[in-house]
This record gives sequence, structure tokens and C-alpha cells, in this order.
Amino acid sequence: MHVRVPDELKAAFAREIRRNRLSSSFRLYVPIVLIFFVVGYLGLAWKGHPIIYILSKILGDSVPESRLLLYITVSTATISALGALLFLRHLVTKELFEDFPYCARCDALDYDEIGICSCCRSPLIGRHSFFYLEFEDERKTIESFGLKEIEKMPDPVSKENSGK
Ligand SMILES: [Zn+2]
Repeated sequence: MHVRVPDELKAAFAREIRRNRLSSSFRLYVPIVLIFFVVGYLGLAWKGHPIIYILSKILGDSVPESRLLLYITVSTATISALGALLFLRHLVTKELFEDFPYCARCDALDYDEIGICSCCRSPLIGRHSFFYLEFEDERKTIESFGLKEIEKMPDPVSKENSGK
């Protein structure tokens, strides 16, 4: 669901969303690392034989299997920790708004950028900024700014079909 954010609220709204995402990131970092680690480790166990084979060739036969297992575990943990960091960093810093044409009369978002309102047929001039609700806990922030979710315009084809 999209939320229209007026220009005058954009800076304060973005600050609040980023602040909340940052505090959630601290809370979720360890669980996400663990999930990445388990998925990575299972992936290696299931389909990682070529990687393990290449690694054992590079390191030579002198390296015992237990040492090889330790290397793989440490590498998977390191990659998981870095991956989780990059993933959470992306969530905090990514662009929050997307611009679309909007019909104020119908309070509808022209997601397909057709430029004509499929409800009232008015041409849509100019673009408005929208925030896409990805995480349920951000609903509180949206409400605290007095913003509300906006419907996408119905697809003109499906509208014609439903009229039959
Ligand atoms: Zn309209």
C-alpha cells in the first residue's frame, strides 16, 4: 500500500522512518546474521560440494578435514555478518519515496503512469511523492503524521470487464 506524503512533511517523515529502521536494525542484527548463517551453511551442505572441493584443492591435502570445516564455518559466519550489515544498511538508507501521477479528486494513485485517471478520466498533471508501506510497524509512524494509505487506480481493462 502507498501513502501520499506532502512535500512539507517529507523531510520529517523520512527522518522518523530512518530513525525507527535504525533502532530496529540494532535489535534484528543478530537474528538476521543467524538466519543468513543457517541458510548459507545448509546451502553449502546441500549444493556446496564444488566449492568445498576447490577449497580443498587450493589448501592442499595437508589440511585436515576438521580444519577445512573450521575455515568454512568462519567464512560463512563472516559473510553472514557482512551480508546482514549490508542488508540492514540498505533498508535504512534506501530512497523512501517514489513519484507517481495522482488524482486528487478521486484520491487515487496512477501506479502504471498512464497519465489519465481511470475513475474520472481527468488528465493528471504533475507528480506526487509516495511512500510504500513495507513493514507493518511503520503504520504507527504513518498515522502519527496524519497520513493515510491510498488505493491504486483500477486497471481500465479490468474496470471495463467488471462493468459487463
Ligand atoms: Zn480521478
